[in-house]
Amino acid sequence: MKWRVDVAVQTPAHSALGDVLSYVSGVEVTPGALVRVPLGRREVLGVAWTVQAADADDPPSLALKPVTAVLDALAPLGESWRDLVAFAARYYQRSLGEIALAALPPQLRDLTAVQLARRLKRRSAVPPPDVEDAAPAALALSVEQAEALARLDAETGPFLLFGSTGSGKTEVYLRAVATLLQRDPDAQALVMVPEINLTPQLEARFRERFEGRFGAGAVVSLHSGMTHPQRLASWLAAHGGTARIVLGTRMAVFASMPGLRLIVVDEEHDPSYKQQEGARYSARDLAIWRGHREKAKVILGSATPSLESWYQSRPAQAEDAGGRYTRLSMPSRIGTGALPAVRLVDMNLQPPKTVLSGALLDAIGQRIARGEQSLVFLNRRGYAPVLACADCGWKSECPHCSAYRVFHKIDRTLRCHHCGFTERVPRACPACGNLDIAPVGRGTERLEEHLGELFAAVRRPDGSAIRIARIDADSTRRQGALESQLAAVHAGEVDVLVGTQMIAKGHDFRRVTLVCAIHPDGALFSSDFRAPERLFSLLMQSAGRAGRDAAYVSAQGATGEMWIQTHHPQHPLFAALRRHDYEAFARRELEDRAAAGMPPFAFQALLRADARTQEAAQAFLNAANRAADALEGADRVTRYPAVPLAIQRVANVERAQMLIESSSRAALQRLLAAWQPLLHDLRRAPEGKGVIRWLVDVDPHSI
Ligand SMILES: [Zn+2]
Ligand SMILES: [Zn+2]
Repeated sequence: MKWRVDVAVQTPAHSALGDVLSYVSGVEVTPGALVRVPLGRREVLGVAWTVQAADADDPPSLALKPVTAVLDALAPLGESWRDLVAFAARYYQRSLGEIALAALPPQLRDLTAVQLARRLKRRSAVPPPDVEDAAPAALALSVEQAEALARLDAETGPFLLFGSTGSGKTEVYLRAVATLLQRDPDAQALVMVPEINLTPQLEARFRERFEGRFGAGAVVSLHSGMTHPQRLASWLAAHGGTARIVLGTRMAVFASMPGLRLIVVDEEHDPSYKQQEGARYSARDLAIWRGHREKAKVILGSATPSLESWYQSRPAQAEDAGGRYTRLSMPSRIGTGALPAVRLVDMNLQPPKTVLSGALLDAIGQRIARGEQSLVFLNRRGYAPVLACADCGWKSECPHCSAYRVFHKIDRTLRCHHCGFTERVPRACPACGNLDIAPVGRGTERLEEHLGELFAAVRRPDGSAIRIARIDADSTRRQGALESQLAAVHAGEVDVLVGTQMIAKGHDFRRVTLVCAIHPDGALFSSDFRAPERLFSLLMQSAGRAGRDAAYVSAQGATGEMWIQTHHPQHPLFAALRRHDYEAFARRELEDRAAAGMPPFAFQALLRADARTQEAAQAFLNAANRAADALEGADRVTRYPAVPLAIQRVANVERAQMLIESSSRAALQRLLAAWQPLLHDLRRAPEGKGVIRWLVDVDPHSI
């Protein structure tokens, strides 16, 4: 008896190979089993997708290449996991094998059946931990938390937990997980956070709460910052059911968890949940799909939900049956009292070229005198975004990109933030030889220097010199640098912290009583329709950093303040921010989006082409556009003309894109599916000449 096995393997993107490749096996293989199969001259890992008996009257099957090995020490991947992978592949227009293999820990690819069996044996040989039945000291819940938990328990969801910063969302997650695990000895929970940096804090809280009750291996992490052996160990624990709780970043949405009953997506609005390369999936959206498929409850949590989730959780009204999500609100901050006051500084009234207004400097000075901390936020790293010659107009353009190279004074370099091209700063203007080339504009490095000069003469209450620190992608490049910098802030060694949006997210700065945004105006008038939404959530989160520690704030008699320097103090976004009124902001944004027919009232995808020339990239897109005319249902989908990307050229590659939009998600999906084979053909046709790659981005984040 022989079996024909269709296997999902990682085939090169856009190769002519199909979704699965067929092999023959002399032993029966269970669907979902991991197998090793020959592919070209290599032997690769694959997932058995479908298996059929192949008898003597099926010679084509018997002539297939044989499966090399079945990794049968490991339980096969479940049907629901395979469904998730198949859905993601279909929805995001990628191959099955690409998604399936990317969802598995990389180390699995290199292990033979024997090595894997040995590894699993070693794991099971570890004696079970001593489980104490020590329930942690029960903190009193707020009325809002208790109500949210009661509804999470009684209803099916999916839920949007709309809780302001400091309202105790994490405690709600912890309790919901605790209830689940206690009730069902096989149940597992998946808890996702947007950034790797946030996992250690969360992991500590979950371990403290659950390891006593469920044993030392009950909580595992899964994110790309782990070593390959660590990732494999976590994955095996999740797949085997010994890990009851998996904490992770977006990749964790694909973890194999046979007992999955609850998924938490914390800070669900965060753009990091959308993968920006390869398979461009949204982990938040897949979590909703997965929860539905596996009958697991899904909790999306945020103080500033994405407008999609907010709209999906709208209550029923006269004409409208309401959204599919259940909205749970927790508007109050626990113990911290009022949200910080928001002050707007009208920069039109300041002398020209003012960087930091006098009133803001006074406010920072007062904090220093009281031994409190200030956080100064500017979303642009480096010293200056451009270096320019005043004589001939030369600017520090990147020779490989349509962008300027950023001046980094610390190591005297000009660095391209798009392709990485780095050079020493020239002594004189490369075009005319003028020695007087000067930085234009301002990044975090220059702001740090500027603050240092302004406060050079100021002393701390104890007479020591004040300390200004900076946290951004440059200052934290070295492994462990972020942790040590954060530790210095927490220890009170830093008086003024300058940084990019990295400092606005999630970190608990207990002694920060002032947060200021120096130059947030760019996002108000961006061509990207999601820019205001991102700005609002960033500012709300930053404001949440001020005065978080109730005990500290009240002892000092200080309250948290957020300062915003803007040329548009009348802008409705700031008016809503002043009142901490997300709902007002969302209402207005949604009205605008509805009027303009944009998400969540429409569904979008981008077709992008990269080529040696802009003409070639656009020619491919235009040909694709014409090819789509003939497809059924094409009239229900709007296709816009091909345009260059905002940053048109990166590393000498010209980039163009075409927006595709429909009021029906199904119509958009149908068109994309039918279009896919035509695009593959076009790539090989004369129209595809010069095209380096093309891709489809479904539900793109920025357009
Ligand atoms: Zn010059
Ligand atoms: Zn460049």
